[in-house]
Parts: sequence; C-alpha cells; structure tokens
Amino acid sequence: MYTFEYQNPVSAAAAASAARGDARYLAGGQSMVQALKLRLARPGTLVDLNGIAELSGITSVGGNVVIGAMTRHSEVARSADVKKAIPALADLAGGIGDQMVRNQGTLGGSIANADPAACYPAALLALGATIRTPQRTLSADNFFTGLFETALAPGELVTSVEFPVPDKAGYFKFKQPASRFALVGVFVAKFGSTVRVAVTGAKSHVFRATDIEAALAKSFTPEAAAAVKVSAEGINGDLHGSAEYRAAMVPVMAGRAVAKALG
Ligand SMILES: Cc1cc2nc3c(=O)[nH]c(=O)nc-3n(C[C@H](O)[C@H](O)[C@H](O)COP(=O)(O)OP(=O)(O)OC[C@H]3O[C@@H](n4cnc5c(N)ncnc54)[C@H](O)[C@@H]3O)c2cc1C
Repeated sequence: MYTFEYQNPVSAAAAASAARGDARYLAGGQSMVQALKLRLARPGTLVDLNGIAELSGITSVGGNVVIGAMTRHSEVARSADVKKAIPALADLAGGIGDQMVRNQGTLGGSIANADPAACYPAALLALGATIRTPQRTLSADNFFTGLFETALAPGELVTSVEFPVPDKAGYFKFKQPASRFALVGVFVAKFGSTVRVAVTGAKSHVFRATDIEAALAKSFTPEAAAAVKVSAEGINGDLHGSAEYRAAMVPVMAGRAVAKALG
C-alpha cells in the first residue's frame, strides 16, 4: 500500500483549488481506480468529484446541449432531452461498456482520460463541441492531443461540455467484444452543407476523416462514405486487428453511421 490524501469537496471551485501539485481527480473511478491499483498513477492527493452536484446534469443553452462533467453515461443514454436533440449522442452513451460501466463512468472522466478507443471523443470532435473548465473554454478540435493526452493543464477541471445540435448525426463502432471499446468507431454529423466525420480507435487519438467528409458533403449516403479508400499509414495495428484491417473498417463504419443518421 501507499498513502495519499483524500479530499471530497462539494464545489467545483473547492475541487479546482484542492488539485495542486501531483493531485488527481476521481470521477467514476472506471479508469482511475485501475491506474491506482497498478501504480500507473501515484497521486499525493485524490480529489473526489462525486459530491459536487453542480458538475452533474443536462441542460440546454442557446439551443445547444450542455452536459456536466460528472454526468454518468447511463444518464446521457436515457435523457429525453438528449434523445430529442442529438439522438446519436444518447445512442453512443448507451453503447459504452456494460451497465455497471455506464452507471459509474462519466463524460468528464472519459474525455480527460482520452483513451484512444473511447467513444465520446468521436462525438465531441464530429459535433464541434466546446469543453469548459473554470479557467477557459477549449474547442474539441484542439482538445485531444495524443495517446491518453489532452490540452488540459495539470489540475485543470472539466466542468461541462457544450454540444451544438446537428441536422443529422450517427455513430457506429465495431466493438472489441470483451470491453466494447471501439476497435474502430465513426461519428458523422451534418450541419447544413457541412459534414464532420471523427474516427476513434484507429490512431493514437481521435481524428477527422476529411476525405470522407468531402465525399459526404457531395452526397450524404452510406455508399459515398463506404467508397472512400483510407490509407493504413499511421493507423494502429495490434492483436485485435492490423493497420490495414482498421483502415478498411473506417469507411465501412462511416457508411453505417450515415445509415443510422438517415434513420
Ligand atoms: C470494462 C470497461 C469497459 C469500457 N467500455 C467503454 C466503451 O465501450 N466506450 C468508451 O468510450 N469507454 C469505455 N470505458 C471507459 C469508461 O466509460 C469511462 O468513461 C472511463 O474509464 C473513465 O472513467 P471515469 O469516468 O469513471 O473517470 P475516472 O476513472 O474517475 O477518471 C479518469 C481520468 O480522468 C480524470 N478526470 C476525471 N474527471 C475529470 C474532470 N471532470 N476534469 C478533469 N479530469 C478528470 C481523472 O483524474 C483520471 O485521470 C470502459 C471502461 C471499462 C472499465
């Protein structure tokens, strides 16, 4: 065993001021507890966010959907407001892990953790979301910077994420069968004549598939997405699938995401 200080503040301001030095936040613990057990993280202070009511909940601001960082995946999945505004986001949340993971896992924890195979990063990038912290707002375009890396400064607290509402959107992932993380997942969002396509599971971090975006801007059909060839250069390969396999899956998943978006 090793010792650390435990703090459980009841406001976001108190949490942010407690997160000094090598302190780490604890959200649903779905990744953090494993990291502690395996000694991948050895914080001097653990700042538990579970008692902070202001970090949870789903609201609408200027027509956009705003989701608090501590909102559980299961809350997003069953929210009538999210289902109405961005059904693809509720669908994505309902497909994360299993029921226990969805009851504990949080939006803020998912995006701060920035697992290369996580689902939410694809939604944030495709929808052009804005991440809020007490200090600033960050665009999803600049947020995911590498393998388990984000633009957050040490101790910076994600308080909420604001999602613009698209005309149409869809998410489809080829699941790793044990964890249900994305072997390859694609989120497609259409805003007027603009289409944004984000891919997770295929590189060190989520990225936009600009060739598929261009094809879908001309013709928003599953066939147009599936016809695009994606190079295997820079794509992940591991025991679950080679780089060539994952590259071939990207347009297939994009086509299925478009089919979902079209209902
Ligand atoms: C078996 C299993 C299956 C899973 N399947 C999927 C899947 O299919 N798709 C998918 O997308 N994900 C999946 N996940 C990930 C899961 O959904 C969680 O979102 C993820 O593990 C993060 O967990 P958490 O929200 O509990 O955060 P924690 O584990 O508590 O924290 C994760 C990291 O984020 C930091 N952090 C937490 N909250 C904040 C905040 N507000 N501001 C700044 N930093 C913060 C913590 O300090 C820590 O570094 C799975 C996880 C497990 C264990």
